[in-house]
Amino acid sequence: MNNHLELAIHGGKPVRDSFLSYGKQWIDEEDIQAVIKVLRGDYLTTGPEVGRFEEEIAKYVGSKYAVSFSNGTAALHGACYAAGISGGDEVITTPMTFVASANCVLYLGGSPVFADIDPKTYNINPQKIEQLITDKTKAIIPVDFTGQPADLDAIIKIAKENNLVVIEDAAHAIGAKYNGKKIGSISDMAMFSFHPVKHITTGEGGVITTNSEDYYKKLLQFRTHGITRDPGLLKEQHGPWYYEMQFLGFNYRMTDFQAALGISQLDKLEKFLELRKKYVEIYNEAFRELREIKVPYQPAFSDSSWHLYIVRLNMELLNANRKQIYEALVKENIGVNVHYIPVYMQPYYQQLGYKKGICPEAEKLYEEMITLPLFPAMEEADVYDVISAVKKVIRYYSKEKNYK
Ligand SMILES: *Cc1c(COP(=O)(O)O)cnc(C)c1O
Repeated sequence: MNNHLELAIHGGKPVRDSFLSYGKQWIDEEDIQAVIKVLRGDYLTTGPEVGRFEEEIAKYVGSKYAVSFSNGTAALHGACYAAGISGGDEVITTPMTFVASANCVLYLGGSPVFADIDPKTYNINPQKIEQLITDKTKAIIPVDFTGQPADLDAIIKIAKENNLVVIEDAAHAIGAKYNGKKIGSISDMAMFSFHPVKHITTGEGGVITTNSEDYYKKLLQFRTHGITRDPGLLKEQHGPWYYEMQFLGFNYRMTDFQAALGISQLDKLEKFLELRKKYVEIYNEAFRELREIKVPYQPAFSDSSWHLYIVRLNMELLNANRKQIYEALVKENIGVNVHYIPVYMQPYYQQLGYKKGICPEAEKLYEEMITLPLFPAMEEADVYDVISAVKKVIRYYSKEKNYK
């Protein structure tokens, strides 16, 4: 075996000389200038850029309203508040997500209930949702996992029949479409995150989009201490200085320079989406010949925004487990990752009494999944490095002898 084929983990030459991360922001000179302009102006926190950013997001997704937050988690907290979640309420969500999708329910004293995933799409399984509804259930939080829309028609139908609110965690899904319709205009409320690994960034930031004026007003008030100056909402009126704190809200506001960055980033979103799609097609094409891994499946209703590219290992055809393959890829200088550890397996959730085994499909997927690098700022050559490394490692560990 020559030096190139020997795995880096065994002392061979790595596929890449430098490390390729799994995701990274794309900031250009226009973004920098947009932020500087605000820094030289009159407003640092909530000013005209915040309103403009919200208008542009609403226009982009096709919703009536958008309310920005200091981060996506705060935005989910606000959405759960607006939906009326409180002590004792149950909210059904998926375990295959970042902890924030469930934590937002705990913040308000509610209980997240985990419905298992569909083993094909990795998204929450509507049939499992139905089985878990009780008279305490108040909402469903589906996640558009990896950018692929959850089965929204089925979920919204269940919600209507049971009088539940649908809060879509669309942190991965800006620009994605469900049956041709943009994500962000379909559910009661949808959340987008602007963390640097997501499609567009404001450093930290998030937004809720909605068509409901009632939710809109509650969200605005929630993100600023529960305070309002809206004459229509005030209980008294002492004079022009007067405001009222009417419930316990938070300081969850986005700054004006972050919003300016968001506006500038939004101008590049279509380009970012196209690059992600292009790289996914290259991956899909290259991996078709490897029976040892399964590439992502897309149902007909889905036009994914491709936040993450996840391959699933076919363990029966491999002589190694996920950890060994993961470590071998890292040694080849490929920044792989795992999204996600099922939420209820976290020690905090275990201590709350959630049992392992409640969502077997999610747990099985967790053992077999690896996230490969995917972000618009990577070059096509980087994509081919990832492919070379995956083929090198998978062929080495394959049970099918004819590779070697
Ligand atoms: C990123 C993310 C969040 C949280 O967003 P932040 O802006 O980081 O607070 C929530 N849910 C999912 C699925 C995410 O990927």
